[in-house]
Amino acid sequence: MRILLVEDNDRLADLVGQGLRAGGFAVDAFTSLGDADAAMATVAYDAVVLDLGLPDGDGLDLLKTVRQRGDSLPVLVLTARDGVDDRVRGLNVGADDYVVKPFAMAELLARVRALLRRPGNALGVRLSCGQVTMDTTSREVWIAEAVVALPRRETEMLEQLLRRAGRVVPKRSLEEGLYGFDDDVSANTVEVLMSRLRKRLLQTGADVTIHTLRGVGYMLAETEAQP
Ligand code: CA
Repeated sequence: MRILLVEDNDRLADLVGQGLRAGGFAVDAFTSLGDADAAMATVAYDAVVLDLGLPDGDGLDLLKTVRQRGDSLPVLVLTARDGVDDRVRGLNVGADDYVVKPFAMAELLARVRALLRRPGNALGVRLSCGQVTMDTTSREVWIAEAVVALPRRETEMLEQLLRRAGRVVPKRSLEEGLYGFDDDVSANTVEVLMSRLRKRLLQTGADVTIHTLRGVGYMLAETEAQP
């Protein structure tokens, strides 16, 4: 799950970015409306955390543009303590929720997760394929009832595969879901992670296989019994 963070206060942006990443999200952080708008044109974000007072305008203008396109992308607005008007205006133009500054990171994380729990996103559920199960909130993974510790990026990748078990996940969408713009991505990063994940699944004797569809993507499926 990839979050667009628009906040021009560097310290706050760092804190929120770190908190969201620790919560298992990929985050792209921008300090202006212009940059955020450009990023949205190229990446399909799962949610936006939006400050209102930005150097090149009002965050609500970005929100209006999104809603005018008919896009129901979840948007959480960050408002000042005395900004009652901001909250009302925000909700009027289609914000899904707001958090008042200063806020506790745990609260922001909980609100973001709640937004993503809407139908279609289904965050906070147990995904499974064969003996492999994952809780998308606690980020725990079980293979045949045993908890397995996976590094963050492998967990993210497994989540995407599980969400579309039995169907092809395009390589491009795996890349987008895994990384923010700040992360170092090389051409074969997905291949490297996929090979580690495969090895791990094999070692645990899981009854699932990650199939490679060359030039297209990957598919997780239950391993067919040998005749
Ligand atoms: Ca600001």
